[in-house]
Amino acid sequence: MTNRISAFFKTAGWKTPKVRVVGVLGHSLCGSTILNLILDCHPDIFGGGELYYLMEKKEAELPFELVCTNCLSNCRIWTQDFINLSPERNLYSYICNQSGKRVIVDSSKKLDWFREREKDEAGVSFLYVVVVKHPVRHVASYVCRAMEVEGWEAYLKPENTIDLLYEKYNAILDYLEKKRRHFVILQYENLVRNPQEALSRILSRVSLDYIPEMEKYWRKEHHQLAGNMGAVYGATERWSPWNPKTKVHPAKREQYESNAQKGLFVDEKYKNFLTRDQLKQILGNRKVRDFSRRFKIVDEDFEV
Ligand SMILES: [Zn+2]
Repeated sequence: MTNRISAFFKTAGWKTPKVRVVGVLGHSLCGSTILNLILDCHPDIFGGGELYYLMEKKEAELPFELVCTNCLSNCRIWTQDFINLSPERNLYSYICNQSGKRVIVDSSKKLDWFREREKDEAGVSFLYVVVVKHPVRHVASYVCRAMEVEGWEAYLKPENTIDLLYEKYNAILDYLEKKRRHFVILQYENLVRNPQEALSRILSRVSLDYIPEMEKYWRKEHHQLAGNMGAVYGATERWSPWNPKTKVHPAKREQYESNAQKGLFVDEKYKNFLTRDQLKQILGNRKVRDFSRRFKIVDEDFEV
C-alpha cells in the first residue's frame, strides 16, 4: 500500500486495505530465512526478515550494523532513516507504506516478540507459520553453528539442542492452541521437496495464489533484515557480511556453493556433522519422539 493508494482510499471514503502479517515462529536454523525469501517472491508479499531487530536496535547495542542482508547499507527500503524512525506501535503499517505490499512476512521466530506485536498493532491480522525441521537436521545445524560461532559450544552435544528445541517449540504450540490463533505448521523438508503444496497451504490462508516463479527466489531482488547466511548466499551468491561476526564452516560453504541456482535443495549437513552414534542417540531420544509426534514430522531414513 503506497501513500498515494492510502490517500485515495481515505478520500474515496473506503476502508484502507487490511494489513496481514505472516508471523514465522520457530527457532534458529529452522529454515525461516529461505521461507521468507520464497514468500517475498510473491508480487503481493514483502518478506521483511527478522523485524524484532528494529526494536532490539533501539533497546540495546547490536553487535553489528542493522542493514538489508542483500543491499547492505545501500538499500532503497531499509534506509538508515527508515530503520531509526521505526515506531513501537503499528510497525507493520509503517512497513506496508514503505514496501507497497499489504502482506508482510516477519521471520522473527520469537514467541515473546509476537505476543508484544499482538498488543501493539491495530487492525492487523496474523497468520502464524511454525517452521519445524527434522530433529536430525536441526541438531546437525546446531553442531555446525557451534563450530562457527563462539559461545555456542554447548550445542556440540545433541542432547542440549534437543532440550532447547523441545522447550521452545512446545511453548509456541501451547500458546497458539490455547489462544486459538490462526496457524499452520510447516516442515522445512516439505517446503524444499514440494514447495507448491507447502506454500499453497500458507498462501491460501492470506487469500493469495501460489506462483511457480516463487521457487526461483535467486532471480528476484530481496530486502530483508537479518537471516541465515546460507539462504542469503542462495539468493545473492555472496556470503553476505551483514553480520561480520559469523564465520561459515567450509562444509556448509561447499554445500551452498555447489547448489547455487540449481533450485531448492534439502540441507544434508548431518552427514558431515553427526556421528553414527549421535544419529542413533537423536532418533532414540524420548523428547525427539514426542516432538515428532506432536509436530507430525515426516519420518525418513538417515545414514551417516
Ligand atoms: Zn535491500
